[in-house]
Amino acid sequence: MKFAIVSKNDKKSWNVENYVKQELENHSWVYDQVQPELVICVGGDGTLLYGVHKYVNILNNVQFLGIHTGTLGFFTDYTEEEVDECLHDLLTKKPKIYESRLLKFQIDGDSNIRYALNEIRIENIIKSQIMDLYIDDEFFETCRGSGICLSTQAGSTAYNRSLRGAVIDSGLSLMQLTEVTPIQHSVHRSLGVPYIMMEDRVIKIKSESFDTAVLCYDHLHLPLTDTKEIICGMSDLKVKFARYREYSYLKRLKNLY
Ligand code: NAP
Repeated sequence: MKFAIVSKNDKKSWNVENYVKQELENHSWVYDQVQPELVICVGGDGTLLYGVHKYVNILNNVQFLGIHTGTLGFFTDYTEEEVDECLHDLLTKKPKIYESRLLKFQIDGDSNIRYALNEIRIENIIKSQIMDLYIDDEFFETCRGSGICLSTQAGSTAYNRSLRGAVIDSGLSLMQLTEVTPIQHSVHRSLGVPYIMMEDRVIKIKSESFDTAVLCYDHLHLPLTDTKEIICGMSDLKVKFARYREYSYLKRLKNLY
């Protein structure tokens, strides 16, 4: 088996990385950072996001497994104390594969399609951002406030949850649109609650100016200078999580708070 390890930038995670690498190589696994079949992410959910973006061009051929060096997370199935159990499972068991789809987006004037496992956010902390939202080419509403967040099921427990978006149960593939500190008054109102929508919706976001706004996607971001239009939707790309043992969604959820 060809594998790679992506680690959080701290001593605890490097120690786990070295140990796992050594043990797997002792069992004739091949360390291959270019074409791995399994990417082991050591750190936290944030490290797994980093790993997914690092290997986004070969997602169809690669599986992911997370080891948490803090408390257990959503994308991580083992803690650092369970590393030996994790290694035993890797060497002796066949995993179940759990798939999670990525959002995609494109900004005008840029041919690149970019992807997000958790969410896409347009945020402006400098001035109120006015944007028109179109869903499947039909005008929906004008948003005024600090921004919007479009989240996946996987991302529903991340930034979306801080915006008081709903947690979406594992196994449902949906998109959730929430506003960031929306302005609501007698002249302007917007939906004001999260909108959970079917995954084949296409969302177009238009503005006269996004100049001081930033587009954040997972841990990454882009400036929006000169951008007038952003198109988002669900992509066909999926992250494949290799699950070697039962660790229920409810347990993951209860671990969160
Ligand atoms: P980060 O430090 O890597 O992550 C921030 C926190 O979000 C960490 O505690 C991380 O868990 C947790 N997290 C990430 N994905 C999650 C998920 N799907 N469900 C539950 N918790 C999750 O921050 P970053 O590099 O700026 O951004 C990465 C992600 O963090 C973003 O996609 C965003 O959703 C999330 N984030 C959330 C907030 C917020 O809730 N206010 C603020 C900033 C970022 P670990 O400790 O296990 O890595």
